[in-house]
Amino acid sequence: MKKTILFSIFVLLLIFSITSPVSAHFMERDRHSVDNGEIRWGTYHGGTQWTSARNTAINRWDAEGIINIAGDTATTIEDLSFTDYSASDGVLGSWTQYTGADKIMFNNTYFNNMSSCQRNHTALHELGHALNLDHNNVAGSVMRSGRICQSVLGEHDKADLRQRW
Ligand SMILES: [Zn+2]
Repeated sequence: MKKTILFSIFVLLLIFSITSPVSAHFMERDRHSVDNGEIRWGTYHGGTQWTSARNTAINRWDAEGIINIAGDTATTIEDLSFTDYSASDGVLGSWTQYTGADKIMFNNTYFNNMSSCQRNHTALHELGHALNLDHNNVAGSVMRSGRICQSVLGEHDKADLRQRW
């Protein structure tokens, strides 16, 4: 009897430890820009003036060694464009799926008044969406929303990337 109760508690703890405390954050399974284990980025939809933020985001996610993120070539198919727009819509940046190539858009209206680490955070965050990652509220994670000064990936971001791919 005691053994049964202890075993039941053990199983419950095991289930709890698998599902808690900080679970993974993914979007719907097919919402990403990854194609054959990589993201090839280019200028199908145009370019961005925020090249430093773009390159920081590409280099940091690529350095994890899970998904190859590299420039499009004559023999590859573009998966993602980085573009700019201007609007007072409350949106710092966005990632959207399109046929042809998906699109990350940076909003000049806000980017013009943001610090480089805030721009880096937005670029890292949107590229995280392109990698299927969803929002979280974990301190130090680039997948937190908002105008945040952060130029590096958090441990939770890296763990989510490894778990998803
Ligand atoms: Zn987001």
